[in-house]
Order: sequence, then C-alpha cells, then structure tokens
Amino acid sequence: MSAELGCGQKRVDACDVVVVGAGLVGAAAATRLADEGLDVAVLEARSVAGGATGRSAGMVLSGLTCYYNQAVEAYGRRKAQAVWSQTIEGRDRLLEAAERLDVPVERTGSVAWAVEEAEAEDLEESAALLLEDGFAVQFEGGDSLGRGFYAALRYPDDVAVDAAALTQAMLFEDDIAVHPGTEVYHLEREGSGVRVWAKGRTVLCDAVLLAVNGYAVLFDPYFTDKVVPTPCRVLTTNPLDGVVLQQPGCANYGYEFCRQFPDRRFLLGTWRFTSAPEHGGKLGDHVGEDGLVHFVNSHFPDVEIQDSRRGSGLMGFTPDGLPLIGQLPDTPGVYFAVGFGGRGLAWAFVVAERLAALVLGEEHDG
Ligand SMILES: Cc1cc2nc3c(=O)[nH]c(=O)nc-3n(C[C@H](O)[C@H](O)[C@H](O)COP(=O)(O)OP(=O)(O)OC[C@H]3O[C@@H](n4cnc5c(N)ncnc54)[C@H](O)[C@@H]3O)c2cc1C
Repeated sequence: MSAELGCGQKRVDACDVVVVGAGLVGAAAATRLADEGLDVAVLEARSVAGGATGRSAGMVLSGLTCYYNQAVEAYGRRKAQAVWSQTIEGRDRLLEAAERLDVPVERTGSVAWAVEEAEAEDLEESAALLLEDGFAVQFEGGDSLGRGFYAALRYPDDVAVDAAALTQAMLFEDDIAVHPGTEVYHLEREGSGVRVWAKGRTVLCDAVLLAVNGYAVLFDPYFTDKVVPTPCRVLTTNPLDGVVLQQPGCANYGYEFCRQFPDRRFLLGTWRFTSAPEHGGKLGDHVGEDGLVHFVNSHFPDVEIQDSRRGSGLMGFTPDGLPLIGQLPDTPGVYFAVGFGGRGLAWAFVVAERLAALVLGEEHDG
C-alpha cells in the first residue's frame, strides 16, 4: 500500500488498484498490474485461494464446459475457434507461471467421456471440427477405458496443477499486499477514484477489480441476471491401493469430473444449475451426492467412497457460457472478471491481460 493514514477505528489506506478476491483470477490480475508498476492491494474475505480456486480439481482444461460442436452452433465457427484458442493461450501461460514458480504441474492431458450414445456423437462431431480448426485432440470410439463409457475425446496438452499453491506463489513472488479476512462491503466514487469499504479498513484507489466469480451477485445487483452462482460438490477418497485413472477428465457433458492425484487419492466432483426446473430452483445436497454415487457405481465401482472427505465450492456461470469482463456502468473505475464456470483455471491468465488493458486504458482485440 502506498499510504496508510490513521482514521479513528478504521485504517484508511490508499493504493493504485484494489483487487477484490484472492483466487487465481484475482492473483493473475494483481500480478499483471503489479508488473506494470502499479501499487496493488488484494482484499480477500477469507484466505488466499479460499474460494473455488482452492477447492478446484486443478484440471487446466482447454475449451468451455460445452462441447466444441455446441460452441460452434451457439457462437459461430470463428468465435468458437477464437474462444478455444484463448483458453489454450491461458493454459500455456499458466504452465509458464507454474514452471517459473516451481509449482508442480502434471502433464497428463485430459479427457471427456461420453456416458451415452448421443454424447458420443457430440464428441465425435466435436473432434472432427476441432481437428479441422487446428486443435490437437484424439477421438476414441467405444469404451477404451473399460469403464462403461461410450467414447472419449482426449486433449493431450491439458495439465493439472495445485491451483491454491500457484495462487499463493504468484502473490508471494510479486510481493503484493494481500489482506485475508477482509470482506469488501461497498464501493463508491470519491473524486476521481473509488472508495472501498471493507472489514476493518477503507481504501481509496484509482481502480477496483472485482475477481469474486460466483459471489458476484452477492456483491452487486448488476450481476443478478448475468452470473448464476452454482455450487459444485466434491468427494476426495483416501489414497487408493493402485492407479485407476491416468488422465483427469469430465463426463456427462461436464456435469461429473474426476482425477487421481499423484498420492493416489481420487477426487470426484459434480455440479448442476440450481435454477434447473427439475430441482425446483434449488440444489439440495442429496442431488449432488446422488449424482456422484451414481457416477461412481456406473464407472468406478472399484473406488471406495465411503470414508471420503466431502467439500463444495461456488462457481459462477453466465447465460452464454463465456466469462464476463467489463466495467460497472454505474461506478466508473470498478472493473470485473467473473463467470468462469468450471473452467476458470485456463481463463485466468488471458482474462488478466484483458483486465490490465481495460484498467490501463489500452486497446485490446479480445
Ligand atoms: C469443487 C470445484 C472444482 C473445480 N474444478 C475446476 C477444475 O478442475 N478446473 C477449472 O478450470 N476450474 C474448476 N473449477 C472452477 C474454478 O475453480 C473457478 O472457475 C476459478 O477458481 C475461478 O477463480 P476466481 O479467482 O475467479 O474465483 P474464486 O477462486 O472463487 O475467488 C473469488 C474470491 O473472492 C472472494 N470474495 C468474494 N466476495 C468477496 C468480498 N465481498 N470481499 C472480499 N473477497 C470476496 C472469495 O472468498 C474468493 O476467495 C472448480 C470449482 C469448484 C467449486
């Protein structure tokens, strides 16, 4: 922080940019701006990577939650190709950062499995389109894993990482002022800057970056129809006796995912839109748990989940499936990058570039 002035019970700080949220997106944006010579502070309600980042499966996946053929239909071929390329750029930048910071990366690739014939057809169609558009993927019809899947689409260059360790290492490397346990309550314009009201302090700064992802709606009503907070549940087993899965992957259109860690613990996760009509607008705990149990029984019956650790985290989905980056219309100087769904790890570094361009008032083609 550039200045610290005493002011009654609350301390008044000042800096160039306040980043709200110390997940991977906040860390990538903060370090990018610090590299520009700006004085950056990160205010985090809980702990560094205490949100979705620290609970994630650590799979750095190219592409979106939907399959490529669906993306081509939704956005058009050129835009789908551009979006896919950006996630690959993000994955590669993450890889560079992890290697520079000595954060271990597993170069396992990843895989999407079909749990029914219709999904296998989507994977096959996606594979053909991806190959035509120059992306490295491999389609395998049938149940190559012998686990009841109908087809697999492999992304050989995807990686897995400990996202919390990477977030911490990035903030530490750039010596950024990070304030955990500092929930931000309110932002308002003051002069040419923005006043940040947070637990135990207020900060006056030139710009604010909201990197609060699934919590965006709680933060500002502007996000009400733009970001859907979506819980994601995970089970992590004790270390298994052997290796049951070489590549992390997603199945059932991304609704279920799993990964085996190097220490042989097995992680399984699932999510559903809370607003889905079949859940009456709510997602009870049993829905996620039932889905996971069904998935395990169908495809990994040899994995013992009885004594697993249960956890959950909040993701933020946008109606069009793409991250939302911009500036709050009613509060100039407040920028945001939210709505990463289940793919925030590959997006973080690309988004940090766009945010930096916005804050610095530079042109950007993305
Ligand atoms: C269980 C689970 C598994 C996942 N697995 C993967 C995966 O394998 N691969 C992948 O790419 N993505 C995965 N995701 C999604 C991924 O974790 C997110 O897209 C990504 O971490 C988003 O990063 P972020 O920094 O935007 O958000 P977060 O990591 O959620 O960070 C936002 C931070 O903002 C803080 N915050 C919120 N409100 C305030 C406030 N008012 N004041 C101060 N701080 C505040 C929160 O405490 C939080 O730490 C998973 C998500 C979950 C929940």
